[in-house]
Amino acid sequence: MKARAVKAGILPPVKMACPYCGGSMRRRDSRYGLFYGCSGYPTCTATVGCHPDGRPLGTPANEPLKKARIEAHAAFDVLWKGKPPPARMKAYEWLAGALGILFTQTHIGMFDQATCERVVELCKARAGKESERCSVSGRSGR
Ligand SMILES: [Zn+2]
Repeated sequence: MKARAVKAGILPPVKMACPYCGGSMRRRDSRYGLFYGCSGYPTCTATVGCHPDGRPLGTPANEPLKKARIEAHAAFDVLWKGKPPPARMKAYEWLAGALGILFTQTHIGMFDQATCERVVELCKARAGKESERCSVSGRSGR
């Protein structure tokens, strides 16, 4: 039996309780990389991804929350993707202000479902305003 070698630069697993079932989040290695999965699997499918050093990327999420976070990210990314570098930071600053939370706490990977839904609403409203402004200035140019 060969023990799996601990990769260099990876920190010991972080102890975390599953917010859904109270189980413990255990770090696992998959072909997609490290992640934390609930000890209650397969009954509980809460997972959270890892930084390359093995720290969790956010808080554990079940399937509906994972979906909500993906949707929130997609709506948010529209605001800065393809724009020059400070755009992403500025977008996070704006989001922090719009949600009334600290910039340092503005991580979609840590948001709950209600906050994710709010992010989608806020980002869609903002993206809508921006495209309106673009088409208006486009027309006035003629
Ligand atoms: Zn669980």
